[in-house]
Order: sequence, then structure tokens, then C-alpha cells
Amino acid sequence: MLTLKMDEKVYLCIGKIFFYKIINMLNLIIFGAPGSGKGTQSAFLTEKYNLKHVSTGDILRAEISEGTELGKLAESYMSEGKLVPDEVVIGILNELIKKNKGGNGFIFDGFPRTLAQGEALDEMLKKNDEEISVVVSLEVDDNELIDRLLKRGQISGRSDDNRETIENRLKVYYDQTSPLKEFYRKQGKLNEIMGVGSIESISSSIQAGIDKLND
Ligand code: ADP
Repeated sequence: MLTLKMDEKVYLCIGKIFFYKIINMLNLIIFGAPGSGKGTQSAFLTEKYNLKHVSTGDILRAEISEGTELGKLAESYMSEGKLVPDEVVIGILNELIKKNKGGNGFIFDGFPRTLAQGEALDEMLKKNDEEISVVVSLEVDDNELIDRLLKRGQISGRSDDNRETIENRLKVYYDQTSPLKEFYRKQGKLNEIMGVGSIESISSSIQAGIDKLND
């Protein structure tokens, strides 16, 4: 009896993974204010679920260091803590999604950052019969965010990690980005996770939320 039950469970589990693999990619959004740990947790999730990591911040910084026209444009916004215009980042994402069709899935880090970007992302994925699977929102209070970003600025030397730009980025987050939480809550996809504690404990909470999708 016990063996039968176990077999049944294993069969169901394999069946579900198989179904999920052929039907859907795992498309995650890692969401949160600047300094909430999106990049750190993305590295873990990329490895764990074998996903394509898409960080618009990293893409834009690479353009800046290569001195491209796009980089010059992006830098004029980023240095002030403002968002790069929607059409620019949406254009970048459109190309990237087309090129990476058919993998295990994406982890979107730092995108979307406006409602227009969120709506565009849904449309882009829909064209490939795909959708966002879950949005992980890392919740960290402002004082902790500011502390972390100031410290990061000292270590990494990222030019937008100075007090004035940080304050602007936080304001932009609350004004333009945080309304996306409601957008995804309405879709039943928002998963809020406490972004304070050890990196490992936060990773475990995120993983538990994602693995629930397969139950
Ligand atoms: P952080 O989350 O710490 O602000 P990012 O690397 O995600 O770091 O973003 C750095 C900057 O790059 C942002 O302040 C913004 O100027 C620009 N940027 C990144 N992603 C986007 C996006 N999706 N839309 C507009 N601007 C973006």
C-alpha cells in the first residue's frame, strides 16, 4: 500500500514537471525598491531554475561602458536617478525575448518599472503563448535600503549610489514603480517576501513560494 502511494506520488510529480516543462516557461519577476536585493536573489534563482537573467540595469550599464548612443542617452537619466524612457527599455526587452524563445524561462530583474512596461511585458510574452508565472516582491524598509545603497556605493563605486541619487530613485520607485504591485496583485501573481534577514533565508522563502506553483 505504501509503495503504491509512493509510486503514485512520484508519477504525479514527474507528470506535473513534464507538463509544466513542455507547456510553460517559468517566468519570474523579481521586484522591489533599489537596494532590496533583487540582483543577489536573481543570481540564486537563475542558477536554481536555470533561467535567463534579464537585468535592464546591467544591460544599460554595459551600453554606458561601451560608449554607445543608447548608453549616452541612458546615462543622462541614470545619473539623476530617473527612469530611462519606456520606449527604450521596452525595445531592448522585445529583442531579448524574441532571441531567447524556448528556454526554461526568464527572470526579469529591474523590469518592469512602470505600468506601461508591465503591460508591454504581458503583450510580449503573450506573443509566444507565455505569461508571467510569479512576481516576487522583496519588502525592505527605507532606512535599511538607504544604508545598503550607501554601503554598496563605497564598495562598488556605482555612481548612482550616492545619497542624493538614492533619494531620487526611492521617490521614483514609490511614484512610478510600486503601482505595479497592485497590477500583479489583481492578476493573483504577487508574492511579497520579507527582504530582511540572511541571504539564504530569503532565498528559501522565495523558493518555497515558487515551488508551490508546481503543487
Ligand atoms: P537599482 O534597483 O538599485 O536601482 P538597477 O540596476 O535595476 O538598480 O537600475 C539602475 C538604473 O537604471 C535605474 O535607476 C534607472 O535609471 C535605470 N533602469 C534600470 N531598469 C530600468 C527600467 N526597466 N526602466 C527604466 N529605467 C531603468
